[in-house]
Amino acid sequence: MMNRNHTRNNAGSNRKSHTQGGRKNEGAGRASSQAVVDAPVQKNDEVVVDIIGLTHDGEGVGRADGYTLFIQGALPGERVWAKVMKVKKAYGYARLQELLEASADRIVPVCGIYDKCGGCQLQHMDYAAQLNWKRQHVVDALERIGKLRIAGEGETSSGIIVHPTVGMNDPWRYRNKAQVPVGASAGDGELVAGFYAKGSHRIIDTDECHIQHDRNDEVVRIVKAIGRELGVSAYNEETGQGLLRHVMTRTGFVSGEIMVVLVTNGRKLPQAEKWVGRIRAALPEVKSIVQNVNTRDTNVIFGDETRVLWGSEVIYDELDGIRFAISARSFYQVNPAQTVELYRTAVDYAQLTGKESVIDAYCGIGTISLFLARKAGRVYGVEIVPEAIEDAKRNAELNGIGNASFEAGPAEVVIPRWREEGIIPDVIVVDPPRKGCDPALLDTILKMQPERVVYVSCNPSTLARDLRTLEDGGYKTVEVTPVDMFPWTSHVESVVWMKRSM
Ligand code: SAH
Repeated sequence: MMNRNHTRNNAGSNRKSHTQGGRKNEGAGRASSQAVVDAPVQKNDEVVVDIIGLTHDGEGVGRADGYTLFIQGALPGERVWAKVMKVKKAYGYARLQELLEASADRIVPVCGIYDKCGGCQLQHMDYAAQLNWKRQHVVDALERIGKLRIAGEGETSSGIIVHPTVGMNDPWRYRNKAQVPVGASAGDGELVAGFYAKGSHRIIDTDECHIQHDRNDEVVRIVKAIGRELGVSAYNEETGQGLLRHVMTRTGFVSGEIMVVLVTNGRKLPQAEKWVGRIRAALPEVKSIVQNVNTRDTNVIFGDETRVLWGSEVIYDELDGIRFAISARSFYQVNPAQTVELYRTAVDYAQLTGKESVIDAYCGIGTISLFLARKAGRVYGVEIVPEAIEDAKRNAELNGIGNASFEAGPAEVVIPRWREEGIIPDVIVVDPPRKGCDPALLDTILKMQPERVVYVSCNPSTLARDLRTLEDGGYKTVEVTPVDMFPWTSHVESVVWMKRSM
């Protein structure tokens, strides 16, 4: 304790002299074009910072002399010693140097490369605390952006009820899909695959990821070894040369079936038969080996051309007793256990009796649609990716579900047309990508006047924005359930129940 106090005092005085010295230097020595930002701290200052919150990215929000500093790895309630890395007018970024007072929620990250990777943002935070924070993050967005009134704890008479975040009993090894970039090691040029070092495009070779199903880790290790054995070249972002860009793999948690996708820079895959033979020999559960061609200079992983090298063009998996065919390019939720929780909540909120007509917008391969179809009169799904709609149709058939139909196209175009064709939904379910619903779709929902809207969202900010629009158009938000689909990351998914109030 003595020591800590001592350090803190030192840090405090350090800060003052650094700050002043830094400013003088800037003023005297630098060219006038290099403006000094008028902030109470300067780059390279070492400061004591009190952490008062977390950003939506999971960075600690700190205050030093009334100035805001974002510090990755710091938790609310902590006091840290940090080095200022970047200074802007209203806020800056600093690097955590030392914990002066640690939060009771702090834990030791399980993963050895947590600091370098950036795939997880909250491995230093106790899981229960993470779940609380995720709920609070949703509440904050609804209040600040959506201008909505949230009921206090235990209060039921007025305000929106936001339930506790639905968490996992075992929040590890939950992902069914891995996609890893492939590169050449700086030293001997050997094929490496793993992740991009935080904030860069340097690939760090890695064989294990604790949030992946261990079969996915195994597939990546094996594919990498085969690539090395066959002398395959890795794609180089700078030169545009080299063949193998990404390895993607998806494992059916219930079925055990595996798909392997090789994303290549060019159509030609030399030794394709050897690739297939070796993958099959090492991994008998593989049902589908696919090549995707991406020759563009882009960090988008997939190109437009996909072809089956061996086996089926899909793998099958099951969610709550419904079977799904999943092709390489289709969206399929990555955490199957929590997906079932999410979809069940969505179906609950739809309050179906068997007669209702339901629209599922942004339906992907028809997952939510088929959950709904078991309890509704009729379900109409719409989705922009044509391959996903093919999967959705096949999935309905596969499960003998005859009351669901699907159409490919933008939801904001297809649904207004359905309206003209006389489709009158009792419930509309939306599950848009991060940017939220298209305004034209929200407008159509207001015109269609369904009894209920169920909004599934992976982004609390756009969710809050869209709920505001729907509220202004005569809907009332009743309940919200956050679901932890991505433990140890800062992401949070929510399901919202709205009802027509006019
Ligand atoms: N409900 C599905 C998919 C959710 S992800 C599930 O849970 O599996 C969001 C989906 O919206 C993706 O499949 C994406 O392709 C699709 N999408 C994106 N923009 C769209 C648009 N304008 N109209 C319809 N679908 C869209």
